[in-house]
Amino acid sequence: SAIELEDVVKEYHSHGEVVQAVKGVTLDIPEGEFFSLLGPSGCGKTTTMRMIAGFEAPSKGLVRLLGQDVTNVPPNKRDVNMVFQSYALFPHMSVWDNVAFGLKQRKTPQEEVKRRVGEMLEIVDLAGREKRMPRQMSGGQQQRVALARALVNRPRALLLDEPLGALDLKLRQAMQIELKRIQREVGITFVYVTHDQSEALTMSDRIAVMNDGLVEQLGGPHEIYERPATAFVAGFIGTSNLLTGAATGGELKIAGGRVLVPGHDGEVTVTVRPEKITIGTEEPARESSAVRGTVAEVVYLGTYNSYAVRLADGAEMTVFQQNAHDATATAERGDSVWLSWRAQHSY
Ligand code: ADP
Ligand code: MG
Repeated sequence: SAIELEDVVKEYHSHGEVVQAVKGVTLDIPEGEFFSLLGPSGCGKTTTMRMIAGFEAPSKGLVRLLGQDVTNVPPNKRDVNMVFQSYALFPHMSVWDNVAFGLKQRKTPQEEVKRRVGEMLEIVDLAGREKRMPRQMSGGQQQRVALARALVNRPRALLLDEPLGALDLKLRQAMQIELKRIQREVGITFVYVTHDQSEALTMSDRIAVMNDGLVEQLGGPHEIYERPATAFVAGFIGTSNLLTGAATGGELKIAGGRVLVPGHDGEVTVTVRPEKITIGTEEPARESSAVRGTVAEVVYLGTYNSYAVRLADGAEMTVFQQNAHDATATAERGDSVWLSWRAQHSY
């Protein structure tokens, strides 16, 4: 493992009150993985990162890097580096000098500095811009300089705390692809913090979804999206319909329909993604989950339509339906419709 956290807790004392920023997080991140901490603002992502880097000591628990207990080891003695949203480049130094700074401080031989800085600028696609000053560069370019500066020391792990947060959407999406490519190329473990679900889903090998100081779910992007473990995860990642009630014989009765929950009895919470639901006028087959409702709203969104469908008890479900190039809307406002989905699409 590159990084292990064992039941790590962080308490802050402020104004006589105790704030638990992290309430017991256990993680095991293998070498070379692109790992993300994803969650809303205030859930404890930055605090977790700062404990990995050594800027904060845990109140309880252990931090291990490459199998070694570093819980009480200072940041400069840990083989990790951190990149922040603010690039913190030296404004009076050229790109070259910014990247070379750490190596020179360690008295690395001049030839080696030249070779490693050159290599790194090649990797972040800034070869030829060595003499530029930070203010002469775009936000994306500055962030790549910061990345090169963090990677040139060859840390065993790189920690990135919302590094693309200051960039506009288009640049951010381009940088997501760049970052993933760079990580693959250098083969270093990346721990990436973001509150942006699409960013985490795009780049990560695995994601820990955090909420209120705890990890709610840990898994690959596909798993987290398709099989959210909790209502929080389902709601935080993408759009989701939540249905709750008491199931008997593997079936949950809801107003105007049924949800198939094979193998489950008693109180259940079921989530269904809007794109898994089919909207139609015919009563669906017995082997599908099905519910009747009335179309309350249709929103045209280019490649698909979003329907809000009101059920008999007043609850609303969201349905996404792909638009074929010659399709007209399959249902209109006020229409009485059936919604159906396969048993394996509710969790
Ligand atoms: P995130 O990075 O997910 O937005 P943080 O780790 O920054 O979350 O913060 C988690 C919680 O801990 C928040 O409630 C925050 O207010 C609190 N917190 C963070 N740092 C401190 C501190 N130095 N003193 C007191 N409370 C803090
Ligand atoms: Mg933060």
